[in-house]
Amino acid sequence: MRKSHLAAPRYERQNLLPEFGDRGQARLSGSRVLVVGAGGLGSPVLLYLVAAGIGRITFMDPDVVDESNLHRQILHLTPDIGRPKVDSALEKLSRLNPLVAIDARNDRFSVENAMHILSEGYDIIVDATDGFENKFLVNDAAVLSNTPLVCGGVLGWEGQVMSVLPARSACYRCLFGSPPAPGSVPTPAQAGLIGTAPAVVGSLQATEVIKLLLKKGRLLLDRLMVMDLLVGEIRTIEVHRDTSCPVCGEAPKITSLVKENYNH
Ligand SMILES: [Zn+2]
Repeated sequence: MRKSHLAAPRYERQNLLPEFGDRGQARLSGSRVLVVGAGGLGSPVLLYLVAAGIGRITFMDPDVVDESNLHRQILHLTPDIGRPKVDSALEKLSRLNPLVAIDARNDRFSVENAMHILSEGYDIIVDATDGFENKFLVNDAAVLSNTPLVCGGVLGWEGQVMSVLPARSACYRCLFGSPPAPGSVPTPAQAGLIGTAPAVVGSLQATEVIKLLLKKGRLLLDRLMVMDLLVGEIRTIEVHRDTSCPVCGEAPKITSLVKENYNH
């Protein structure tokens, strides 16, 4: 990004923050972030990261826009129903900020492609997926490639956020072990979801990314932020690395990605 772009009026308000200073915008502009998912969480994550001027953003999603997505997936509009989510999202994101290089991939983040994608070299990966299998896969790929990760999850009126620095702070598996048996825990498609829950969680995830890139503030490391929007309560729970964690513990059993670990 050219130097003049770093002082573009679109960045004026954030550049006023002491945490940005002279170099903050250059840090964001020199960074590369991978966002897995362009749905409920991906919408706010992508909108705010593109608006903030992250230099290069890759995002991926294999799905097409469904009418039932629209109450929460605010990147997609009624005329987008039936379009690939990545096409719909790319159209809005490139209009929002043409200074950002955006790479949209109509593909699922999978056991087969995860490590190859992460070998492209990302500063941060953002989990904007749904489904436990996907969340464990993104976590394990982040840990195995030593890529910082920002996790987020939503269900009903509730949400949670946590950041992970592999081998330095608790990972998703340290907290949750392994994916629950299929059908044992309800999904948003079964239990329902308020549209604003992914908006809150995704905005917090984008904030964690910005703090991580700026190296400012206190990240949600070894801390799980949990919120119940129905009663208006947000708490931050201290969590710890599990020395017997199968992926980041002292004797990890997971040293590569194999389908059996994700109920795929
Ligand atoms: Zn772990």
